[in-house]
Order: sequence, then C-alpha cells, then structure tokens
Amino acid sequence: MSKYKCRICGTADNEPFVAREMMFGTREEFEYFQCGECRTIQIAEIPEDLSKYYPPHYNAYEKRTSLWDPWIKSLFKRYLAKRHLSGRHNALSRWLAKRFGLGFLRNLEYARIDLDSKILDVGCGMGHRLVGLRKYGFTNLTGIDPFIERDVEYPNGVRLYKQSIFEHQGTYDFIMLNHVFEHVEDPYRFFEALTKRIRPGGVIFLSMPVADSYSWQHYREHWVALDPPRHLHIFTRAGLERVVGRYGYTVSRVIYESNEYQFWASEQYRRGIPLRSPQSYYENPAASIFSVEEIAAFRRRAEQLNREGLGDVACFVVEPRGRE
Ligand SMILES: [Zn+2]
Repeated sequence: MSKYKCRICGTADNEPFVAREMMFGTREEFEYFQCGECRTIQIAEIPEDLSKYYPPHYNAYEKRTSLWDPWIKSLFKRYLAKRHLSGRHNALSRWLAKRFGLGFLRNLEYARIDLDSKILDVGCGMGHRLVGLRKYGFTNLTGIDPFIERDVEYPNGVRLYKQSIFEHQGTYDFIMLNHVFEHVEDPYRFFEALTKRIRPGGVIFLSMPVADSYSWQHYREHWVALDPPRHLHIFTRAGLERVVGRYGYTVSRVIYESNEYQFWASEQYRRGIPLRSPQSYYENPAASIFSVEEIAAFRRRAEQLNREGLGDVACFVVEPRGRE
C-alpha cells in the first residue's frame, strides 16, 4: 500500500516515481504515481502555488491568426462545414476537405451541432480555436479563461470572458476543452460545473493526454505529456469514465490525435534537452538532434498509433448516458 490514494477512485495501490520539470528545464523533481486500479497517472501532491509554474512566456508561441479569410475561401469553408456536419458529403465537399484539411471540423461530426449552435470553449486562451470555427461559419462562439488579461470581443463576434467555469453563467449546446482538463485540481468538481453549463443532451469534448498510450509505456518519467508539475491528472478512459459517470455521463467515443511531438520531445527529455532549450526542435528545427526524415518517421508512427488506439493525445467525446 502506498501513502498516496488515487484522487479519482480512492485506491492506495501504486508505486510513486519521480519526474522532472523539462519544459523550461528547471529540472525540479515531483512525485507522480499511476493508480493500480483506474490507471490514472497523477501528481502525488498538488503544489501549493501552481501559478509560479506558468511564467508569462508559457504561451508565448500561441500564434496570431487573422480574423477573416478571403471571401472565396470563406464561402468554400462554410459550404464544407455544412456538408460535413450534416454527414452529406459530395464531390465538391470531398475535394474541399482535401484542399483545406478538415482539422478540428472532423471531430465535430460527433458534437451533434449545426452552424448556429451555442458553443463554449473552456480555457480558450486568446480564442484561436473559436476564431478558426468562426471562419467555417459558426455564429455563436464564446470562450472563457481565467488567465487572459481581460474580456475580449473580436469584430467577427467571438466573445471571450476572463472567467472560470465556476463563475460563468449561461447554457450551451456544445462545450469543448482543449488541453485543460489535465491541469484541473479537482476533476469531479470541475466536470460537475461543466454539466451545469451544457444543455440536456449536449456533448462535451475533452481533448488531453492519455495514459493508455504507447508513449507512456515506452518513455515513462521522460514522457513529454507528464509535464511536471503542470499536469495534475492524466486519465485513462476507465479513469475518466469514473469521473463523468458520477454525473450520469459516459465516454461515447475516443478520437486519437497524437502527433510526432510525443516522440521528439520525449526523446529530448530522455537525453536531458528541455523543450525550450536552444537545441530543441521546438525552438530551432535546424539545430535539432533529429533530421527532417526522422521527424517524418515520427509523424508516420504517430498516425499508426492513432489507428491502433494507442496515441498519447485524444479527444474524449462525453455525453449523457443512454444518449450515445
Ligand atoms: Zn484510481
């Protein structure tokens, strides 16, 4: 029996291990463990002051995107989105999907929404994903993030509020969280708050790292997605089912979307190279220890793992039990 209890299922069957802060390369050590029962990986003790691990340059590389597309592209994108959401593809929409790439739109066919649905992005940052959806013709887009400087209203109608899920009011047809849930201190309380903001029957997407993955098995304490101490819980499907199940929800589908990052970054960590160091592929691909060919091979390997259900990042489609 360990001195630590799983915060998801209460089991004390686990063997703690040490992982180091490698994004910025402070190499500060933190204890983690994987629950022997629900297999959720978690930090053993949540640090008192997490804010010091989110320096101002944490999101420095969040790229700026334009608010509008040229009108012809915008027309095509709206057409593509309509066709895709209704599941009625034709020759033109298939060609457009190839031309533009479906990206996140691909997942939205499981969201049970249309272009006028009320959509909430929780932990939206500066709202890049919402702005991206606006270009596909979605009209009712809101984001919340307690860490942005102030409320934002973009000229294209996308609204962002400096609020947490516990402060925000309103009901939505669809809620998405992109790499947010693994940072949450109390997943039960947080998910309960989400259920208060979703309309009855609405779908919630949780995109995050996955503990049932090849990269966790292979890289262990060097796995980039541990990201000590910022990632507090890394779920398995079974662990997440426990959390959402308490509120009458279930995971109806898992869409794997890992990429080459899991390999090059974890390989770097294993060699002691932090993500934000000058020799990192992240900072300078030309100075990287990996060749263009090696990166391409990592990408193909990631695609293969996604097909096998072993990718290290996934979008969990969560909806009310009995609805799926
Ligand atoms: Zn557990």
